[in-house]
Amino acid sequence: MSARELVILGCSSQQPTRKRNHGAYLLRWNEEGLLFDPGEGTQRQFIFANVAPPCVTRIFVSHFHGDHCMGLGSMLMRLNLDKVTHPIHCYYPASGQVYFDRLRYGSMYHENIQVVLHPITKEGLVEDDGKFRIEAYKLEHGVDNFAFRIKEPDTFKFDQQKLRDLKVHGKMVSLIEKEGEVVVDGSVVTLEQVSSLRKGDVFAIVIDTLPCPGALAAAKGAKILLCESTYLEEHRHLAEQYHHMTAMQAAEIAKKAGVEELILTHFSARYQELEPFEREAKTIFPNTFAADDLKVFPFPKN
Ligand SMILES: [Zn+2]
Ligand SMILES: [Zn+2]
Repeated sequence: MSARELVILGCSSQQPTRKRNHGAYLLRWNEEGLLFDPGEGTQRQFIFANVAPPCVTRIFVSHFHGDHCMGLGSMLMRLNLDKVTHPIHCYYPASGQVYFDRLRYGSMYHENIQVVLHPITKEGLVEDDGKFRIEAYKLEHGVDNFAFRIKEPDTFKFDQQKLRDLKVHGKMVSLIEKEGEVVVDGSVVTLEQVSSLRKGDVFAIVIDTLPCPGALAAAKGAKILLCESTYLEEHRHLAEQYHHMTAMQAAEIAKKAGVEELILTHFSARYQELEPFEREAKTIFPNTFAADDLKVFPFPKN
C-alpha cells in the first residue's frame, strides 16, 4: 500500500531560522506526491526527510512571494536530472506566470520532463482528473494567493453476499454502478443496498492570509487542514498589518470548518519555540499540532 502522509519539509515564514527551513510540504497520497509551496532549499530537505524527489507528481504554488516559490526552479531541474517519466502538473495563480517562467528557466539546462501548466484565473474548480478534484479559493494577502482544497473520489465497495442475496450478477453489476439501481425480477435494487460508500478524504492548505471566506470554504470538512499561523495572539496587530493570522485565528477557522485535524505552520522567525502555537490553538480547537521540519503526519484512509 502506498504511504499516506504529510511530510513537513520546512515551516518557517519569510526568513528561515537555525532550526526551521523555508516552507515546503509534501503530501504522499494514492501513489502520488503533491508538493506545496517549495521554498528555498526544498531539494535538500527531501534528502533529510529520506524521500526521493521523483515521487513528486504535482506542484502547487499558493502565491509568488519568495518563501513559497524559490525552490520551484531547482525542484523542476532536479526532477529533470532524475529523468522522471511522468508529467509534473503545476498549479499557481495565472497572474504570476512571469515569475513561474523565470523560476523554471532561471539557469541553463536541457528540459526533458513534461511540465503541465495549470495557471489559475478564478476560484472554484481547477481540475478533476478522476484521481483528485482540485479546487482553489481566493485568500486575502494583498497579492493573488489561493488556498487549495483537494479531494479524492468517493468509492463504492460491493458486498458480494448482498449481491448474491438480491440476485444481482453479470452485467447487472456494472449497470447498477452506472445507473444507481437495477430491476431484478420486477423489483428495484439500489446501489446502496448492495454496497458501502467510502467518502473520499479532503486535504486543505491555507497559507498567507487574513481570516477570510476563501480560507473557510477551502477547509470545510477536511481531514487535515494545514494552515498558516505566522504569529501568536500577542502579536495580532502584526498579523493584521502583514495580512497573516495568529494560531488562535487558524483554530477558529478549523472549528468553523469542522475539520478533523489542524496543523499549524509558517511561523515567524521571531519565535524560538513552537509549543505556544499549539497551546494557544488548542484552547479553541483541541486536535491541533504545530508543524516542525521533517515531522511526518499520517493521513490515514477513512
Ligand atoms: Zn509566506
Ligand atoms: Zn506571502
